[in-house]
Amino acid sequence: MARRIARVLKAAALVMLALTTWLGSPGGVQAADSAVVLIYHRFGETRFPSTNIRLEQFEAHIKELTSGPYTVLPVPEIVAAIREKRPLPDRTIGLTIDDGYLSVYAEAFPRLRDAGLPFTVFVSTDPVDRKFSGFMTWDQIREMRDNGVTIGAHTSTHLHMPANLLSRNRADLANSNARLKEELGEVPPLFAYPFGEASTEIQNLVRNAGHIAAFGQHSGPLDASSDPFLHATFRVE
Ligand SMILES: [Zn+2]
Repeated sequence: MARRIARVLKAAALVMLALTTWLGSPGGVQAADSAVVLIYHRFGETRFPSTNIRLEQFEAHIKELTSGPYTVLPVPEIVAAIREKRPLPDRTIGLTIDDGYLSVYAEAFPRLRDAGLPFTVFVSTDPVDRKFSGFMTWDQIREMRDNGVTIGAHTSTHLHMPANLLSRNRADLANSNARLKEELGEVPPLFAYPFGEASTEIQNLVRNAGHIAAFGQHSGPLDASSDPFLHATFRVE
């Protein structure tokens, strides 16, 4: 038991060490005009270790985020503050979750809601439309949205965008946004690239599809120097 707790705390400490390195180091990025966005995928799904976080580890993150010197803000607020060059609280954190797995609804949502922590889920629409097991339903996604969770776009088919023709990417985005509009009433302003990768052409496609900002999966802070169509996220599995 003690070993397990030590392991959990070590993992949480590594994440938080990375955060404080960016947000708190003298001479580093100024805390008042930057933020760090974390990205998760699955919760308590130990069969998928490369994209999963264990529940005790996730609970340690929540404990750290709610008891430490951080301000967790909704990602749309962070993006707006950076776009408009408004200051952010010291050590601002944003929480995002990619793909739309059922464990987001079953495990992350209740814990984050109870902790009062806002978060954004980037949903790929095909697995939901095709009712793949292990993914959320539209009703579950709407329930989270109605409880203040931000829903973002993440393509229809979770394709590796730079490896595909622009025409295929364009059709995929058109379908994704049509489905999101039908199910949620709007095209989400925020987008996350599957696998975190894009090219200049892909970034332009995403911009032209109606999004205002997009996230990759390269570590770093968000600040006024960030490309709004390739914002960094810190992957914490
Ligand atoms: Zn993804």
